[in-house]
Order: sequence, then structure tokens, then C-alpha cells
Amino acid sequence: MNISKTTFQDYLFCAKNVWLKLHKPELLEEFALSEFERHLVEQGNEVELHARNLFPNGVEVTETGERACEVTAELMAQKTPAIFQATFIVDGFIARNDALVWDPQNKCWNLYEIKGTNSINDTGNDHNHLDDLAFQASVLRRSHVPVGKYFLVHLNNKYVRVGDLNYDELFLIEDKTEEILARLPVVEEQMETAKWYLSSEKEPPEGCNCIYKGRSQHCTTFTYSNKNVPAYSVHDLSRIGSSKKKLNALIERKIYEIENIPDDIDFSEIQANQIMVHRQQKPIINIDGIREELESLAFPLYFLDYETYAPAIPSLSGYSPYQRIPFQFSLHILETPDAEMTHIEYLQTEAKDPSEDVAKLLDSSIGAIGTVIAWNKSFEAGVNREIGARLPEYKNAMERINNMLYDLMDVFKKQHYVHPDFRGSTSIKKVLPVLVPELSYKELNIHEGGQASNSWAEMVSPATHPDVSEKIAADLKVYCGLDTYAMYAIWKELQKLL
Ligand code: SF4
Repeated sequence: MNISKTTFQDYLFCAKNVWLKLHKPELLEEFALSEFERHLVEQGNEVELHARNLFPNGVEVTETGERACEVTAELMAQKTPAIFQATFIVDGFIARNDALVWDPQNKCWNLYEIKGTNSINDTGNDHNHLDDLAFQASVLRRSHVPVGKYFLVHLNNKYVRVGDLNYDELFLIEDKTEEILARLPVVEEQMETAKWYLSSEKEPPEGCNCIYKGRSQHCTTFTYSNKNVPAYSVHDLSRIGSSKKKLNALIERKIYEIENIPDDIDFSEIQANQIMVHRQQKPIINIDGIREELESLAFPLYFLDYETYAPAIPSLSGYSPYQRIPFQFSLHILETPDAEMTHIEYLQTEAKDPSEDVAKLLDSSIGAIGTVIAWNKSFEAGVNREIGARLPEYKNAMERINNMLYDLMDVFKKQHYVHPDFRGSTSIKKVLPVLVPELSYKELNIHEGGQASNSWAEMVSPATHPDVSEKIAADLKVYCGLDTYAMYAIWKELQKLL
């Protein structure tokens, strides 16, 4: 087995996880990528393909294994201006470089690592990128390749597309040579330890470090490694991952079941409520609090939800990397408490900017008075602001809608309604089945936002058959429509309690 830069990165993140991947193929299905992770990989590949335009006359090594090394050597001998996926295998390590570029002046090669992130600092993963480059630097050094400089290439979040893509503006290139050379000794030591650890046939002991972390940080093998921890455990307490002291205190005492939590540990109000409703298997319903929230809403009620797509490489003029395209909205309108509900929806079915259509339709559908209800309103508010920034003539209209926004999730965030089956969450996906069990996302072909987003990209792609696009359009309408109808149904159930 040769250790690749990805395996090395994964090893630095969690050695046990990589050992299980390599030695326990029966757990393989635990490692299947989620839709979100697959999308990230696809976006990364797309960014790499676009970044190759920075290096004219480049040649890609498409072969694999030893043959890829031979082709790389041939291309290097010819002083090929740029080699994509240049491959080196040495000492049990394999490096496939994003771009190895010949520097005729200095008679050496420069290494470029391409990243699909907007900045290498704002994601907190600067170290990962540098480790990645240092790993490759080590493999190149062991392969006796004369390297001059090490660069990181990443997206420029200040870039706004106008017409065709301008690659020199879309990408930023940072010289990391000094940092890489300083880092190399430490990374080389880590590489040797990784080789020793991952080649061992002996399974690491049971248990793993994530026992001290909240559920959202666990990987899919947590249950395999921690068989004594139940599926719903102290790790599921709201924000427990940020309350290190409390979680540590519980784990040190081997308390995993929520019902076994002792009274001598102080929890936040939200955590204490979650523990109480779980123990009593009875909800907390604060009628006065719910009344206060609902009585603050002015009619008409406009239940609004957006779906967006945020491509790494801006596909439309006026957009920056990862900026959201508001391709769909659903709006349920209730004029008075007893009125029949009306429904307005919008779906962009072509790869064109929907901003103007969306702004126009929302401006004409949402009157001067009333309340615009969303779930997690900061998302809708952000999309509205972005539309206003793109279309100055609609800036005031978008601001007006934002000033009318109310977050229905507040009823649950403020703890006016806490149910044991929410399991500490205030997501609409958890609240809906409890308050309105007859409505469900489960049966839908599209049942979550990330899937909706990827489906839209597939729908507007010229490669997609029109019948498939038509089916996706119908599924998207059902999904987004349910989001706003669900808010109405939850509001209605809350109303019945008063
Ligand atoms: S649950 Fe955490 S510590 Fe355990 S194997 Fe997965 S990532 Fe590593």
C-alpha cells in the first residue's frame, strides 16, 4: 500500500478512522460519501480543471500506478511546460501533483496545489493545505526532483464574473515556499509514523477520541468503536461539543445514557430541558410564550422559503465563487386567520440568473403590511440582501421584505415548545413529524436542501435529457412547496394550543 496525500491528510485528522478504512473492508458502507461530501469532491475537481487554464500548454498524466510515474518522467525529460497529475511513488508514498510547472529560467520545477476554497485562511484549514504541500515536497525530494517554489492556488472571493471567466482574477496564487521548507522535518516524521501505524495488522484498541466530542463531530464508525454508547446519548445534548468540561465530566464517570445524568452538573437551560423531557417523556409547552410570539405576527402571513445553488466556479455573470443562485422559492399566503391559503411559486428552469424574476415576483406578491415567516430567517434575509446588491433597483424592495421577516423557529429556540423527539434540535425536519405527523419529507424524491441544490444543477445542465429535467422540476416544486406548507401547518398547530 502506498500512502497518498489524501490518506495522509485523513490520517492527520484521525489515524483510527484511516486504519479502519484500510483494514476493515466489511465496514466499507460506513464510509460511503454523503451527497454533500460527494458534491464537495465534484466541486474540487471542477475547480482543478478550471485552474489548469493558468498553465498554458500543460499535459495531463491520465495513467495510474507505475505507468503514471513512467509517463511523468518522459514529460519531465521533454521539459513539458506544465504537467497535471504528475505522479511519483517512493518509499511507500505516492504523490499526484495538481500542477508541476517547468521554470526555464531557474531550471527547476515549481509545484502548484489547487484548492477549491475561497481563502486558505478563513476556513481554518490553512495547516491542512500546508501539510498537503509539505507531503508532496517530501515525495518530490525523495524522488530527486529539483523544486524551486511551492504555491497554493485558491479561489478569489472578491472576483465577480462579467461575461467569460477571467482566470487570472478568479484565482489567487500564494507562494508558500518558506513555510513548506520550515514544516518539512515535522511532516516527514509524521509520514513515517503514518506508514508504521497504517501498515500494522493489529487493530487499534476499542474506543476513540470522539468520545469527548459532540455528535456532529463523530464519523460513521463511532458506533463500531464505542459499542457501549447508545444511539441517543449525552453526545446528542444541544451544543455539548462546545461545553467540553461538562462532556468530559460525564465521560470520565462513564455516563453515556441521558437518563443517567446526575443532578450535580450544571447545564444550560436548553440542555437541562432536553434532559428533563427525555426523562419524563413529556413535552414542555409554554402557552404564554407561544401566545406572545404568535400575537406579534401581523396578517397577511407570508410563508417564504428559498432554495439556492452555490457553485465554486461562478456559472453566471454577476456572481462570485460560492455565491448563492436563488433558483426557487415557495410562498404560501394567508390573508386572514380564516381565509383560504394561496400559493405562489417560482422555479428557474434554465441556467440563467433568476434574481430579477424572483425580486419582481416577491415584490408584487408581498404587500406593504403583514409578516414574512421563514424557518432560520438569516438564510432568507441573506439571499434577499444578495439579490438587492445585484439589482440596485430592487434593493429597497428586498430590504422591505427583510424588515417584515419573522423566524418561526424562535418558538422552539426560545424553549416555548420542547419535545423529547426533537432530541435537542430545532430543525423543521425534527419539529414537523412531532407537530404534524401526517406531513413528511420521507416519501419525497427530494427531501433535503443539499439534494435540491444538486438536482437543480443537474436539471439545467445541457447534458440532462428533457424528460429527466421535467421530472426534477416537478420534484423540486413538491419539496419547496412542502417547506412553506409545513411552516403553515406548524403555525396552525401552535395556534390550536392557545
Ligand atoms: S469517531 Fe472520531 S475519533 Fe473515532 S474514528 Fe471517527 S473520527 Fe476518529
